[in-house]
Amino acid sequence: MNLELTGRVAVVTGGTSGIGFSTVGRLLDEGASVAFCARDAERVATVEEQFAQTAGTRVLGVVADVLDPAALARFAATVEQRFGRTDVLVHNAGKSRMAGFDALSDADWTEELELKFFGLLRPTRAFLPLLKKSDAASMVYVSSLLAKQPESRLISTSAARAGALNLAKSLSVDFAPAIRVNSILLGVIDTGQWERRYHERLAAGETLTRETYISELAADRGIPLGRIGRPEEVSAAIAFLSSPLCGFMTGTVIEISGGFSRYV
Ligand code: NDP
Repeated sequence: MNLELTGRVAVVTGGTSGIGFSTVGRLLDEGASVAFCARDAERVATVEEQFAQTAGTRVLGVVADVLDPAALARFAATVEQRFGRTDVLVHNAGKSRMAGFDALSDADWTEELELKFFGLLRPTRAFLPLLKKSDAASMVYVSSLLAKQPESRLISTSAARAGALNLAKSLSVDFAPAIRVNSILLGVIDTGQWERRYHERLAAGETLTRETYISELAADRGIPLGRIGRPEEVSAAIAFLSSPLCGFMTGTVIEISGGFSRYV
C-alpha cells in the first residue's frame, strides 16, 4: 500500500531506540524526511549517521529533551531551516515507572506526571507553527494500554497515561480540522526498556536467558498471541496513522498488545 508519505516531513521524539528508532526507519522507507530527537548526544549522532547512509539528508538528528522548552524550540527551528514545515509529529519519547503505591514518593509522582503530560504538551507547542504549514498535518501519540487497563505495579504510569490519553482526545477536537491526533496503546513491546530491565536482573545475580525472560513476560501477562510485540509492528501502525490516507481518522486509538486488553 502506498501511504503517500513521500516528500512529507515527520518529527519523531525519542528516535534513537526501540519504537522511535523503528519509526524513523519506517517513515524514511516510506519516502518522508524525518527529524528525530533524544537526550544522549552520542547515540543521536550514531543513529543519524546510520540512517544517512541510505536516506542522505532526509534524516536529521537533534539533541533535545522533550521536557526542555528551549531545546525543543531549537529542535523546531532546525527542522524549519532544513525541511520548512512538519506534516507528522510522533510523540514517542518516554518510559514507564515500575513501582507500586508504597514505593512512590510525591517527587516520583510529580516526575511521572510531568513526563507524561509535558512530554506531550511541550513538543506540541514547539511544533504547532510548523504543523500549521502542512496541508495534511497529524500527530500520533504513542501511549500504553495502561491508560485503560491500569496495573498496580505501574500505578503512577497507569494514572498518568490515562490523563494524557484524555488530553490527546481533547487536542484532536481543539486542533480539528487542521491537525489529526490519534493514539496508539501498547502492550509489551521488545525494546530498550525491557532490555534494561533484563540486564538489571542479571546484575542482581539471576541466571536467565533472554529468551526465557521474554517468554516469562508474555506468560506473566497471559498475552493471547503468546509473545511480546516487535517495534516494527508498532512503527507500521504509526506510519499508517501518519498517512494522508487516514484523512478522516482523528481522536481514535489503535491497540497493539497481542490481545492483552481485557475490555471490549
Ligand atoms: P526505549 O527506551 O527503547 O526508547 C526510548 C527513546 O526515547 C530513546 O531514544 C530515548 O533516548 C528517548 N527518550 C527518553 N526520554 C526522553 C526525553 N525526556 N526526551 C527526549 N527523548 C527521550 O523505549 P520504547 O521504545 O520502549 O518506548 C517508546 C515509547 O513507548 C515510550 O513513551 C514508552 O513509555 C512507550 N511504551 C512502551 C512500551 C513497551 O513495552 N516497550 C509499552 C507501553 C508504552 P535518550 O534516553 O537518549 O533520551
